[in-house]
Amino acid sequence: MSSSMAIDRDLKVKPKVRCIQCSAEKNLWTTVSSCECGGLLEIVWPLGEYEASWLKDTWASRMGSLLAIDRSGVWRFRELVSPVDGEAIITRGEGNTGLYNVPKLADWVGVDTLYLKHEGENPTGSFKDRGMTVGVSVARHCGAAIVACASTGNTSASLASYAAIADMRCVVLLPAGKVSAAKLSQSIAYGAKTIAIRGDFDKALSLLQSTAPQLGLYILNSVNPWRLEGQKTVMYELLESLRWEVPDWIFLPGGNLGNTSAFGKALLEMRSLGLIDSLPRIGVVQAEGAAPFAHAYKSGWQSYSPVKAETVATAIRIGDPVNYQKARRVVQELDGLVTSVSDREILDAKAMVDGAGVGCEPASAASVAGIRKLMSERIISPDSKVVAVLTGHILKDPDATFMYHTSDNRFSNKIIEVDADPKSIISVVESL
Ligand SMILES: *Cc1c(COP(=O)(O)O)cnc(C)c1O
Ligand SMILES: [Zn+2]
Repeated sequence: MSSSMAIDRDLKVKPKVRCIQCSAEKNLWTTVSSCECGGLLEIVWPLGEYEASWLKDTWASRMGSLLAIDRSGVWRFRELVSPVDGEAIITRGEGNTGLYNVPKLADWVGVDTLYLKHEGENPTGSFKDRGMTVGVSVARHCGAAIVACASTGNTSASLASYAAIADMRCVVLLPAGKVSAAKLSQSIAYGAKTIAIRGDFDKALSLLQSTAPQLGLYILNSVNPWRLEGQKTVMYELLESLRWEVPDWIFLPGGNLGNTSAFGKALLEMRSLGLIDSLPRIGVVQAEGAAPFAHAYKSGWQSYSPVKAETVATAIRIGDPVNYQKARRVVQELDGLVTSVSDREILDAKAMVDGAGVGCEPASAASVAGIRKLMSERIISPDSKVVAVLTGHILKDPDATFMYHTSDNRFSNKIIEVDADPKSIISVVESL
């Protein structure tokens, strides 16, 4: 962990901040998170200023460095992340997450090759850290007074940690009674002012957006375009690990659709730069009870209606995803598809991911459940090379794991309680 340091950097290439709807350009360090027209903001890089081989070499050369920003799996790619002052950077060495080749799980879902990119291995246990290191650093650079977010649990855990390191005041809004104890405990432990709203996540986010200007809050939900720049690095790191060879498919769970937007942006930029020579297809998986994006996809993008979200996968329990417009473009441009899976399919897939020794929280397993579903529908071909992104750590929701294994489910692994004598142990082990 390191908050301020002298760095060897003078990033000459500066991006622009632009509205995706009316194309209005904003000040690079604007503290608002949307345009007056209501459109989302995005970061636009002058990609022509970079050469692919120089980027590959520069990024690779930092891997052996002792400098904190070089060791971060986000800031190692800083040429395409943010030109924020080095002194403002708050990093916990996020990223550098594992990529697991899991043949048994590949068999179960029915594809030749399946990799799991485990974003739960970030410092606070979810991919949110990749976005937050950038968002909080920019907030600091801009001199923001208070950082804030609405959250289903992981965004708040991440923001609370980075804000504490930055010594900034932090407010988080959560849906009361709907956040796992593990996530909630992170937020209060790291010292965020934690407000439980008697309403759902979508309500919490709209409350935050409506009160932020008057309270001077700097919003760190995925409407913040810098968060997405940080989350792009999942794709840089993944493709670099695959030696820039593009897989056929990349699957991820979809909630507020920030990751979908960020991954697509990264891939499209990488192709323009010539870092990769083709595009993978992208598969976004929602929970059936929180699937407005999947419904819109099914309608051929003709209709979109928010839903009242309900699912065991609380990290994607979102009924009105704020990044809908960006994510729709991504799915269109990457010849992607959107599907939904039941809570039962999510929990069975989680049991398989957990049982493979990798482990994840329920929302993450939606990626794997989605691949299995599309395989059975013959939409993915069996000789495909597929990557599933796991978004959160297994310890984020131990209740879900216990509930599954202590009742009768497809892959339950029940705890066996016995008398404290050798005979009982012997009889259990002999029945293995
Ligand atoms: C935030 C989160 C998601 C949803 O990501 P979006 O970018 O909002 O679609 C999925 N899984 C986990 C574990 C998360 O924390
Ligand atoms: Zn606009």
